[in-house]
Amino acid sequence: MINALFSAREALWPVYRPILESAFADQGLEVALTNKTDRPETMDYLIYAPAREDDDLSIYPNLKLIQSLWAGPDKLMRNKTLTKPMARMVDPGMTQGMVDYVFGHIMRHHLDVNRFSNAKPGEWLLDWGPSLPADRTVAVLGIGALGMACAQAAHDYGFKVLGWSRTQKDGAPFTCYAGQDGLKTVLEQADIVVTLLPNTPATENLIDGETLSIMKDGAALINPGRGQLIDDDALLAALNSGKIIGATLDVFRIEPLPADHPYWHHPNVLVTPHVASETRPSTACIVVADNMARVERGETALHLIDPDLKY
Ligand code: NDP
Repeated sequence: MINALFSAREALWPVYRPILESAFADQGLEVALTNKTDRPETMDYLIYAPAREDDDLSIYPNLKLIQSLWAGPDKLMRNKTLTKPMARMVDPGMTQGMVDYVFGHIMRHHLDVNRFSNAKPGEWLLDWGPSLPADRTVAVLGIGALGMACAQAAHDYGFKVLGWSRTQKDGAPFTCYAGQDGLKTVLEQADIVVTLLPNTPATENLIDGETLSIMKDGAALINPGRGQLIDDDALLAALNSGKIIGATLDVFRIEPLPADHPYWHHPNVLVTPHVASETRPSTACIVVADNMARVERGETALHLIDPDLKY
């Protein structure tokens, strides 16, 4: 019998419990699943979306795997008591939700929606020459589980897509780049830049005065990655000068974004409240059970977070 602890907000337990139990049965796993234990040393797995950041994970010395229910590793990696392998969530349902969000907002910028939604009554803006997707370049920074799916959707629709990641990607149906030179190449061509990178020491403030200055005049930015990717003062300056024509921002250094933050008040910024996508229990529980089954068979778990890279 495998012991697994579901450690997340209380309200999620009745939602996840039956779906997890069914997914374990489908994998042929016999799991004693609980959301409370007074014998943490007996736990083999933690299914984890912590209600608090300062959990003492050292009380679970025998864990084979911590399976996060989150895609973003940043909060989890701050826990100093984390010594066991942790897998981030790669959930087909979450991926589909992110594609919906990113593609929807690519289309919003492609169709220049700000121009019309900011128009004064009676302002009949006929001087609009709409580009076709093949004439627009979409750059996706972060060609991971989510970025790759979003880039693929934009490519399939007909946009010119450029991808950028830490390591070179081969085999994508669009051109991919890596490294600092690659970033410059991608940014100077892009009409719409999507940031789907994790928050790590290496990605903090990636979008700053310098990278913004490389971008095309009138480029748009969509950030469902993390707030820390952006130097907010630099982005606001670029928005105010018109260098950046519009931004769709889902994630922020401080959440909820304070009501007096200039992003709320900027006519060319759309703030969404960290809702780009979320873990969907119906698909995520299959991923959890599959990963646990892999470990039980002696295989390496999928999507392990690298403690050095922090993602
Ligand atoms: P992945 O780990 O699958 O992908 C991360 C990508 O970023 C990889 O392509 C990786 O490169 C690249 N990357 C990481 N560091 C660097 C770097 N220093 N320079 C260049 N590229 C880098 O993550 P996901 O796609 O699953 O998720 C991405 C992020 O999306 C999450 O970390 C989270 O912050 C955010 N998110 C936001 C949500 C929301 O609702 N707003 C919901 C879910 C996730 P390589 O491929 O070479 O490793």
